[in-house]
Parts: sequence; structure tokens; C-alpha cells
Amino acid sequence: MNDRYSISAGAWLPERLQQLFTCVGVADQLEEALPIFRKRKAPELFIVPGSIVSRIAANETQSVKVELRTPCLVDKVWLGVGSSVAANAYIVGKLLAGELPQEIEHAFNAFHVSLFPKDEEVQITCECAGKGSCIHLAIFYFAINEKLENDPQFLLGFRGRDRHEFMADIRTARRALAPAADSNKRVLPAVDQSSLPTSPREGENFWSQGKAISELSFTIRADELPGQILRRHDPIPLAENIPGLEQVLEEAYNHVANRAQAFGLGLMKSAIGQTR
Ligand SMILES: [Zn+2]
Repeated sequence: MNDRYSISAGAWLPERLQQLFTCVGVADQLEEALPIFRKRKAPELFIVPGSIVSRIAANETQSVKVELRTPCLVDKVWLGVGSSVAANAYIVGKLLAGELPQEIEHAFNAFHVSLFPKDEEVQITCECAGKGSCIHLAIFYFAINEKLENDPQFLLGFRGRDRHEFMADIRTARRALAPAADSNKRVLPAVDQSSLPTSPREGENFWSQGKAISELSFTIRADELPGQILRRHDPIPLAENIPGLEQVLEEAYNHVANRAQAFGLGLMKSAIGQTR
């Protein structure tokens, strides 16, 4: 299939989609389908677990049903992937930004499955009953490609997991990963309210340190996503010349955050001049 038909050559999801549709032979119809796809209103996609369905206009009065089917991934895989992804701040950051980074595939591969279905896992059909491919499937291909561009996380639902449930699983797993931080929360006895002034005017010693200061409750914990700052701002100009700079910086921020937490908790005498 020629790259000039790809809406976003280079991105992993469009490339995988192109590969899937190449297997059913849409390549011959793409040249004819592209201007039709661009001219018409994009066909609506109905996405449910295991199926993407659409209706493509066949002529002025009729349309045909096209469908892409694949098996859903089981709950055990989703929970396992959620746990492993939770430990990767880079992937979590991308997911929170609405993206679907290619690195997430490694987490699925560890369970011997892939998020993007493989060629042998899909059925792509058109009810026009033409042999092989047809122009309707080529238009369907462009519609899914556009959807991947605008909202790649629809793939989670297509493979069987609601994206909000998936993110909730990851949040739960992240909380489980930080038991040390939670255990540092100091639980102190309740303060006798009657001994506290009800307003500054009534408190003779309001501006001086009272005994309540020693009973303040506080928690010190490292930023869970220290690398987020890299994604909130414009790309670093130097990054073009230094491959992997952002990843190095993200690891450094993570390290600093953990060191600051340790320092704040009194686990280190100094936050400066000590190695990991
Ligand atoms: Zn057809």
C-alpha cells in the first residue's frame, strides 16, 4: 500500500491499520476511495467491544454495512496490563493526555496478546458481497484511520475494556505501589477543641506557638508523575539533537522527587551530595 494514502504515516496505529486492511486487499481501491472519503461526510463508526460497524453509501439511495470484528481480551489480561502500566510514569502520562503510546503494546505482549489485533484475529467484511475488497472497505479504512488520529483510545473499548475502567484499574494499582508513602501519614490523637480559641480576638496567645503546633498532621510524598512537566510545556529545543533526552530528564525528575521525599521524612541527613 502506498504511503501517500496514509493520513499519518509514521504513527504506529495507522501503520498497523494499514497492514490489516492490506491483507484484505484494499490497496487497489484506495486511489478511487480517497477523494470520495474527503468529499463526503465521514461515515459514522459504531464501536462496541469486538466490533466496529459502519454504513457506507453505495449510491444515492442505498448503503452497505461494513464491519471489522475481533475477539475481546479477557479481564485477566486487562488487570495484569493495568498493574504493569501503573509502574510506568511515561505510559500513564500519555494515557492521561488521551494518547495511546506504542510502549503500551509491550505490556500486552507480556501476556502473549496485542492491543492492536493481529491480521489473523480480524474479520473485515462488506455486505456488497464483492469478492475480495471493494471501495466501501477502502472508505471504511479511511474512516477508522481518522478515528485513530483523533481518539486512539477507542481501541481500548474495541478490545473489550471501557477506557474509564482501565484508567481506574491503573489508579488503583498506582495506589498499591505506594504503601510506604501512605504509611508515613502520621495519625495523631484528636485535639481537645475546647482548648482552642474560637477566633483570633479571643485567643490571647493566638500569634505565639501553642502546644497544638506539635500535633499538626502532615504527609510527605513524592510527585507520582514528575515527568508531567515535560509534557505540559513546549518541546525542549535541545531534544532534537539529543535522542532520549526527555526520558533521561523524566528519570532524573523521578529520582529528585523520591530523594526529596526521603529527605522530608528524615530518612536522609542531606538531600545533596548523596548517591542513590
Ligand atoms: Zn462493498
